[in-house]
Amino acid sequence: MLTLQCPHCGVHAEETELTGGGEAHLKRFGPGSDDDAFEGYLFLRENPKGVHFERWRHSYGCGKWFHAARCTVTMEVFGTYTAQTSKPPQDLLDRISEKRPGWRWRDLNEPA
Ligand SMILES: [Zn+2]
Repeated sequence: MLTLQCPHCGVHAEETELTGGGEAHLKRFGPGSDDDAFEGYLFLRENPKGVHFERWRHSYGCGKWFHAARCTVTMEVFGTYTAQTSKPPQDLLDRISEKRPGWRWRDLNEPA
């Protein structure tokens, strides 16, 4: 079972206490943006085999949203952090790079 530590209240919450919120760090495009940007925001998501950044809500705890970085293959959790950030903390990125040589953070809002 997936267990994530809520960065707000510190509880190690089991998956049943949490609600998944999809991919983290999406840049929102709304009315007035061009069609391609809006379509991408609505429909396009990463589906990596490996490191993934996700949004989670501690629904049956403090109720707050946070982000988690984990491996979709091994279910290893690299860390969690508050959702009030546009980029993962550098120490977390360094820790992931150390465990997954060759991996690097890619800002999904910038061209590949
Ligand atoms: Zn919490």
